[in-house]
Order: sequence, then C-alpha cells, then structure tokens
Amino acid sequence: MITLGIESTAHTLGIAILKDNRVLCNLRDMYVTEAGGIHPTEAALHHKAIKYSLLNRALDETSLRVEDIDIIAFSNAPGLAPCLLEGMNLARELNEKHKIPLVPVNHCIAHLEITKLVTKAKDPVLLYASGANTQIIAYEGKKYRIFGETLDTGIGNFLDKFARDLGFGFPGGPKIYELSLKSQNFIELPYVVKGMDVSFSGIYTNLKNKIGKYPKEDLAYSCQETVFAMLIETAERAMAHTDKKELALGGGVACNSRLQEMARIMCKERGAKCFIPENQYLVDNAAMIGYLGSRMYKKKKNYVIDINPSERTDDVEVFW
Ligand code: AMP
Ligand code: MG
Repeated sequence: MITLGIESTAHTLGIAILKDNRVLCNLRDMYVTEAGGIHPTEAALHHKAIKYSLLNRALDETSLRVEDIDIIAFSNAPGLAPCLLEGMNLARELNEKHKIPLVPVNHCIAHLEITKLVTKAKDPVLLYASGANTQIIAYEGKKYRIFGETLDTGIGNFLDKFARDLGFGFPGGPKIYELSLKSQNFIELPYVVKGMDVSFSGIYTNLKNKIGKYPKEDLAYSCQETVFAMLIETAERAMAHTDKKELALGGGVACNSRLQEMARIMCKERGAKCFIPENQYLVDNAAMIGYLGSRMYKKKKNYVIDINPSERTDDVEVFW
C-alpha cells in the first residue's frame, strides 16, 4: 500500500510517501522568521504557496505518480486552524481529483507511533516536547493517556518567546542551545512542577526581567537546566507510576542534546531504556502521519473529514 502523508499542524508543511511501513521520502519545509514568532496566517500562506512543489518533489524522488497513491493521511488535530485547513485542503483536492481515500490523523499520537516504529520501543512513556505541546503520554486502557502536561504554553513556544526577547528569530530553541554551551554559570530560577504538570509562564516572566542584568549565556544555560529538569522529573514520575521501563522522546525540543543527555542519565539510573529517534522523526514530519494513517485505514475505512484544532491525545480511542 502506498500512503501519502501530509503534516501541517503549525510551522512545518511535510509531505511523505510510504510503501507499507517503509518511509520512501519524508520532505519538510518550515516557515521561519528573522525576528519574532509564528504568525498562524503567515504560516498557512507559506504552506499554501509551497504545497504543490513539495508534493511534486516527493513524487519525483520516489518515481511515483499521484495515481499510484492508495490513501492520503493528513494531520487534522491538534494545531493552528489556518495551518490545519491548508493541509486538509490539499488532501481534499487530491481526493476529489483522484478519488483517493482520506484518513485524518492526530499529530501527537502520530509522534508516539512513529517513535515506536523507528526505535522498536514497545510500551514507552513518551516525553513529547514540541512547540505547542508538552505532554507525558503513555498507553493505558485503549487510550494514550496524558500523565502530565504543561498548564500554559508548550516548552518550544516558551523557548521561542525567550529567544525572541534575546533578539533571535523563529525557531529560537536551537539558538538558546548554542548560547547555553558558552556557560556553566547556574542562576536560580523558579522551578514549577505541580503534581505531574509543569508551567512555564512564571519562569518566562522571571527570565525576561533578568535580560540585561545577567549574561545571555548564563540565562540560556540556567533556563535549559531548569525546564529540562522539570520535564525529566515528571517523566520519571510517570514511569514509576505506570511501572513502565521505557522512555521515548518526541517533538522538536527533543532534538536538544542536553535534554537527550538528561533523559539518558535518568533512564540509566533507574535501569530503564531510553529511545530517541533521529531528528527527522522528532520534529514535525509527515512520515508519522502517513504511518499512523495507514495503520488506521487497515482497521477502519470511513472517517469524518474535518479539522479538530483542540483535540486531546486522550480523546482518541486507539482502535488500530
Ligand atoms: P515541533 O513543534 O515539534 O516541530 O518543534 C518545534 C520547536 O522545537 C520549536 O519551538 C523549536 O524552537 C524547538 N527546537 C528545535 N530544535 C531545538 C533544540 N535543539 N533545542 C531546543 N528546542 C529546539
Ligand atoms: Mg509536533
């Protein structure tokens, strides 16, 4: 079965083609800015402008034609509505013209499923740290349940906002990381873990007030040490609570080498395994949408075709 995957929940338009579970190509084009964060409508215009050229590149690279595609899986939830709509429009256009069935896919769950596919993790706790989402997810009772999450912004958005205040464009996470490498000077910041949840807005305000009073490098270093420790603490607690022996990382922020290092140390200390896929499967990507969509289609053929910007991971019944 040939599956076309379309990812468009936020800043990235992704197009992937899979043959069964094998990823033939996984293309992505990201909306970036010189200064400032994501503007949803501008990101959607970016997707609209490049969708056919990216699709054609994917077809060229795989030597396939649109007619060869058996199903189209697109990310319909959760995300920025204008961006989700662009992805769904592309899927619908192809469906109308070529009568290819459509499968709507939840983006967060797709992260978890592709991680299991490429790392061979069996039943992990997923620390999903991305731009808009920060969740600790694990499977229990036919659903991927959220054991802990951010109470306000996603960790990536938090890093991007702080980076913006330091004068960097989007995405800011990698710039904070580069800066952090120049310091080991830890400045105490609020550490906000509430039960299993985390919160970043107070830390953000605290950091913002420190700009100009402390070296940027020290702030970047302390910021990472603090917020990553919060994530690792809650992930570890979820592992202890669910008695799971595997941790997996997902989301763009999980590309961060320091977060990866902390995750590996925590797992080693508790005798657990740590699974980290390569970056192309950590960031927003269409291979994960195609993969989950094809699994869903094998079990169920007909779906309501619409976007669902605020669907939660635990709203979805796992039937595949
Ligand atoms: P996603 O929404 O999963 O595609 O992830 C995008 C987010 O990941 C953005 O907020 C980026 O700033 C962040 N990001 C990407 N690379 C890194 C990195 N090396 N360190 C920290 N954050 C990163
Ligand atoms: Mg994501």
